[in-house]
Amino acid sequence: MTVQLEAFRKGLFDSGLLIPMGVDGLYGRSETFESIGTAFDALVSRTGAADKAEVLRFPPALSKQVFETTGYMASFPQLAGTIHSFAGNDKAHAALMRTIEAKEDWTTTQKATQVVAVPAACYPLYGPLGARGPLKPEGALFDVFSWCFRHEPSLEPTRMQFFRMREFVRAGSPEQVQQFREAWVERGKKMMESLQLPLNVDVANDPFFGRAGRMLVTNQREQALKFELLVPVIEGTSPTACLSFNYHQDKFGLSFKIRKSDGETAHTACVGFGIERVILALLATHGYDPQKWPDRVRSALWP
Ligand code: AMP
Ligand code: ZN
Repeated sequence: MTVQLEAFRKGLFDSGLLIPMGVDGLYGRSETFESIGTAFDALVSRTGAADKAEVLRFPPALSKQVFETTGYMASFPQLAGTIHSFAGNDKAHAALMRTIEAKEDWTTTQKATQVVAVPAACYPLYGPLGARGPLKPEGALFDVFSWCFRHEPSLEPTRMQFFRMREFVRAGSPEQVQQFREAWVERGKKMMESLQLPLNVDVANDPFFGRAGRMLVTNQREQALKFELLVPVIEGTSPTACLSFNYHQDKFGLSFKIRKSDGETAHTACVGFGIERVILALLATHGYDPQKWPDRVRSALWP
């Protein structure tokens, strides 16, 4: 069941589930909203528990140098968030305050810091992984989680600028990482079906920037490098990607010198769970009060 966009925004704001913060895509969250996210995150943990992934947590920022190495600016310059700060003297500070008081643009004199906002939870992992030296023959599996930033202001609550992403990331041979991804497509479907969400899985394409980006879109689709688990949420718009299953081939292996035990470049894949999108899909499908959700959905989330 989908909801009409305006009614969805009103429902979320009136119930206090989301708190508008004056910028599209930036919201506060209520205790109820958070409790659903915590329960879903725990469901993800239970679903993947047998694999014994190594848990790592990073702050939601990357060094500028690592960010450059990821190649993000070549593909998604429009989404990236660079962090800037004031770097002047007293005189420059006085000028800055005059600009702010005059309600003019005071940000033009800000200088870039050494850090960039994380666009996806797996990005901080690849540098340290490469630095560890060759993988074991069985490869490696990680569990990461991060607040992520993407500059894509939108009225749709499902498209936020700051949101949370949980991921499992696999590194190893092409066979090992593709097998991981295929297994998670099936697991992800079962997991989301247990929440009684209408869904389908389809090949996806990312919003690669510009003319060069069009080739990347074609390549991504033809090689089926990315699948998404989609749930219809907002009436009249395409279904919302709640989970994504990505095969990076040797992209990060080459950039960050991640090697298999035999010294060859490792391949990587990740499965991403959009915490906010799953919460919103549940609220749109089952209503704004989780106490009234179907028993089976409640017991999947709160066993
Ligand atoms: P992606 O790297 O684009 O595949 O994103 C991974 C997951 O993060 C997606 O499957 C979504 O669930 C979630 N996601 C991506 N962009 C946004 C956004 N703007 N707002 C909320 N969730 C998002
Ligand atoms: Zn990832």
